[in-house]
Amino acid sequence: MSTRVRFAPSPTGLLHVGGARTALFNWLYARHAKGVFVLRVEDTDEARNSQEAIDVIFSGLKWLGLDWDEGPQKGGDYGPYFQSQRKEIYLRYAQRLLDAKLAYDDKGAIRFKLPKKIVRVPDLICGAVHFDLSAEPDLTIVRPDGSFIFHLVNVVDDIEMKITHVIRGEDHLSNTPKHLALFEALGAAPPLYAHIPLILNRDGSKMSKRDEGAAVGDYAAKGFAPEAVRNYLCFLGWSPKDDREILLMDEVVALFELSNVHRHNARFDMDKLQWMNGQYLARMTLDRFVELGRPVLEKNGLVSAQTDPVYLRAALETVKEKVKLFTDLPIWMAYFFKDAFPMDADAAEKSLKKPGALDCLRDLRTRLERTSPWNAAQLEADLKSLAAEKKVKAGEFIHPCRVACSGRSIGPGLYQMLEVLGRARVLDRLDRASGATTGGMER
Ligand code: GLU
Repeated sequence: MSTRVRFAPSPTGLLHVGGARTALFNWLYARHAKGVFVLRVEDTDEARNSQEAIDVIFSGLKWLGLDWDEGPQKGGDYGPYFQSQRKEIYLRYAQRLLDAKLAYDDKGAIRFKLPKKIVRVPDLICGAVHFDLSAEPDLTIVRPDGSFIFHLVNVVDDIEMKITHVIRGEDHLSNTPKHLALFEALGAAPPLYAHIPLILNRDGSKMSKRDEGAAVGDYAAKGFAPEAVRNYLCFLGWSPKDDREILLMDEVVALFELSNVHRHNARFDMDKLQWMNGQYLARMTLDRFVELGRPVLEKNGLVSAQTDPVYLRAALETVKEKVKLFTDLPIWMAYFFKDAFPMDADAAEKSLKKPGALDCLRDLRTRLERTSPWNAAQLEADLKSLAAEKKVKAGEFIHPCRVACSGRSIGPGLYQMLEVLGRARVLDRLDRASGATTGGMER
């Protein structure tokens, strides 16, 4: 029997990081087992449904690259299943329970006779857990207004969709004995269960939707690359049997086993995620870095359709291994695109106000006028030979030059930065900083 798993979100208006991780683990398991990943929107609670809430789920899954495999066809694309469109199916099943006298009408509601016994829930992650249902009231499965309760539709769809493994958050573990009772009453073999431990905040508190990092929809705007977030989510509760932390998705797919999912709760660590994002930015192709970085610079008004793409690409390359988040780019790169770039007051104080600094800039300017070819290696050679001639450390030129040209004391490698800025900009900025000309910089 081929593996069939599903992600079954209720549209609540956000894709919580816990939900995204559940989706990811299902997806990984399906891809690992060469099975099928079903997306099923559990939207029977009509009061809470909105197209917006559904779109948030779709866009979050798409952003993370979690593609689903089947559903009623819609315009060439696979549409997911919507429970709101499957009411006849649920009615049929409720009727079956009524006919078998396993459910009864109670003031317009339909209630399932929960077996008053101890139910053993076998779980691939948590091990077997026993639940005593003897004191539980019967389970409402259809409300008097005809709407269906989660427990019924969840089980019916797992039967109808031939789900083999239910991989979901541990918060559903206590529902599972009831679900097993429904499977039994409906004469269907239950799927295997794997309940994933929860994601906690770093301080051990339960993660709510307001906590930092909770909403997947915020990640793009906060400067994360989807591939980095996906990698981080893989490690929230799973790890390969070695200490690698950065893996290609194909490697995770090959290694992913439910038996490697941790039994303890995972802790969400924003610093770690930012570190991982930085690692991804450094390692991704320059094409990808440009693809994701350009819109951020455009949004900040630094880059437009008129910007020379070759210059933009070269400028982005200088900071690729330096920034952690795409949202760092405007601060790191404004001086590539604006002559009136911000000047860091501390950096200016330290490097430009230092005695002799402006003379160094004037000498350097004279030297760089003749630098040829204008590339990082030659710029370095020229700056260093000038320092040797003047019998001072290269730093006496390097620091004021960096601040004069970028307004900052940290940034890309100086020579690479000068190469990309080009001779005209560099000479102009050295002039301005040394007082040979004025204007331009924001102070
Ligand atoms: N709709 C349920 C939820 O969003 C999912 C239940 C399940 O995965 O079985 O929590």
